[in-house]
Amino acid sequence: MTSREVVRKELDAARGAGRSVGFVPTMGALHKGHLSLIRRASADCDVTAVSIFVNPLQFGSADDLENYPRDLDSDRRAAYDAGAELVFAPTVEEMYSEADTTRVRVGGVSDRLEGASRPGHFDGVATVVAKLFNVAGACRAYFGEKDYQQLLVIERMVADLSFPVDVVACPTVRENDGLACSSRNPRLGAADRSAASVLYRALAEGVAAIEAGERRAGVVREIMSEAIATEKRAVPDYVEVADPATLEPLSTIASDARLLVAARFGEIRLIDNLGVVI
Ligand code: AMP
Repeated sequence: MTSREVVRKELDAARGAGRSVGFVPTMGALHKGHLSLIRRASADCDVTAVSIFVNPLQFGSADDLENYPRDLDSDRRAAYDAGAELVFAPTVEEMYSEADTTRVRVGGVSDRLEGASRPGHFDGVATVVAKLFNVAGACRAYFGEKDYQQLLVIERMVADLSFPVDVVACPTVRENDGLACSSRNPRLGAADRSAASVLYRALAEGVAAIEAGERRAGVVREIMSEAIATEKRAVPDYVEVADPATLEPLSTIASDARLLVAARFGEIRLIDNLGVVI
């Protein structure tokens, strides 16, 4: 049996016995953010399955894929310690046969921001998550707000393709200086690691301006851009104030907003976001 078949059989058996299933898809190199999702899933559900798969389809550059950190043994231990009952780490060959040509494309929300900067990225994400959902079956699936646009893409896909999945959004886990935990952080050199906290400061300044009454999205974007510009090591990609449901750029902040940033520090590209409710 392939690992997919084993997982499907075990989760079917669990559901058959009346146990609820939680599912946490990851690319491994597990950190506090991933572990918070696994803990939440195992608190909410009777059985928690975690997948670890570095999905080649969602990487634009062969270099980034090659350099993506991998440590399966320590990931397995960390996932079990956090409450997972099943850890599933399929090979690329198992996930994508030679004959594989099907791709899932989520329109609209995939096109902006990360989608514009990384063409094809969300097609790769949606395709692999659809495959993984078909392995997991009916479940609650836990995703981090750290990848806010990805969360919206998955929610859209689940609604449009009628997956028997409840998507649960989980808050972003941060380091002490505000930097969002990411598998890419350990690849930052010391100077870039310390510079990278500017992303959170920029978002927090944007939120503070809105909370203080600023309603012009352009002014908020400017405040965030100026904050990022104080850190010479940061090369910004985008700074956005968007509708939290569609990620359309806002001109006036009339109700809730999502603030999103992306920047490079040397070779490493980081993203982050915060929501604001008015
Ligand atoms: P990845 O392994 O980067 O594909 O991430 C797997 C899941 O963990 C996704 O749902 C991410 O949004 C989530 N995640 C990654 N970093 C964090 C974080 N700092 N806080 C919360 N969730 C996170």
